[in-house]
Amino acid sequence: MKLFNRSAERLIINEILRHEKSASYVFESVDVDHFEMPVAPYSDYSAQYKKFVGVGDKNPGETIAKINKALLRQEVIKVVREKVFQKNLPYIHLAHYPTGYHNVGTFRVDCDKSDQARFENVLIHSDRHKFPMTWFIEVGAQEGYLSDIAETSKAGHDLQLHCYHHITYNNYSQNKRNIIKGKDLMQRVGIEICGFASPFGKWNPSLNRVLEELNFSFSSEFAMGYDDLPFHPVFKSQVSNVLQIPVHPICIGSLRDVGFTSQEMIAYYDRIIKYKFERNLPIMLYGHPKNEIDRFPEVIDFILSTLNSLPNVWITTYSEFAKWWQKRLKTDYSVFFENDNLKVSTDNTDRSLQLHLENSDNSEAFLPLENLKISLQDVVWTKKRDQTSSSVTETEFSHSGKTKTSLADFFAFMKSFKKKLG
Ligand SMILES: [Zn+2]
Repeated sequence: MKLFNRSAERLIINEILRHEKSASYVFESVDVDHFEMPVAPYSDYSAQYKKFVGVGDKNPGETIAKINKALLRQEVIKVVREKVFQKNLPYIHLAHYPTGYHNVGTFRVDCDKSDQARFENVLIHSDRHKFPMTWFIEVGAQEGYLSDIAETSKAGHDLQLHCYHHITYNNYSQNKRNIIKGKDLMQRVGIEICGFASPFGKWNPSLNRVLEELNFSFSSEFAMGYDDLPFHPVFKSQVSNVLQIPVHPICIGSLRDVGFTSQEMIAYYDRIIKYKFERNLPIMLYGHPKNEIDRFPEVIDFILSTLNSLPNVWITTYSEFAKWWQKRLKTDYSVFFENDNLKVSTDNTDRSLQLHLENSDNSEAFLPLENLKISLQDVVWTKKRDQTSSSVTETEFSHSGKTKTSLADFFAFMKSFKKKLG
């Protein structure tokens, strides 16, 4: 295999650590030019049909990012963390969620072909659970009641653009025309948008260029990333300006398509939510008003009430999460170790930002991000949350039942690479 060029590799590792907001001594512990694992697949933006673990032989699927970037990112962090532990230091980075929270929980509605009655039906569920939602509007289909949609922002809903026509083109001008048309119509009724989710979750560089030129601050496409923390896509040795906010790609409709009963759908989401909760991963789910939320009301009620019932989950919208994440990315701090003392220096005054410390014995601690000096002995360490749920959500086999997915390929590749290094 041709080894990836160094500068591209460096870019990827730096980008992953930049999103971790790792302390500078962490960056310094890493020899980017001799990194232990291949990171090149992180800049892959091709998509592939993959199946997720369902019930029996009913496995839901979707065309999503070929590379599971979340797993790759976690592997990189694991390698880096080990290096820091070898120096007998804790691993320190900015926490992924605001102070007081261990997860984020959102529900996204893609309004494909939804009429007003179905739109309002989703609002009933949202009101029932006092759960603000992030709506991606298919303007061509919702043009007739856009001003009513605009009203819902007063209740805390986040209104963003899905498209005008429900197509993602491979072509810059066509994407641009489609997006500008939808954006203009939304602005005409007073909806200021900053976010986008492409039709069918597709992502390509020409779409990215349009989103950058039109100053979108975030977008959400499972063909770029899924089941992960927010990140800026890396592709062709470039880093996108648009923050990618990944979603779990299996919606109620994906489960319906493989014949799930509503009880099986509830069991599926129960498992996915538990999986993410235990691993402190964002719990970001989505659905459609038509032929999904209208047909399986008990499933959406289960999702919203479960998210509300979990402790320390920040229930929010994409815009709020993106805003907070971007603030987090821009905030600087330095950490010094003097004998047994930890010294933090920063200009930060935002109490929502905190440091996350991890130790080699699987314990962790949080400290406010402010100027402080503390003895490492005085830091209150707690054991990390137990993981009782299955560690796998994707299946090892694609829909043909024969071909292995890239997930299995990726691990096989990693194994052979490690072996090669001896
Ligand atoms: Zn759609």
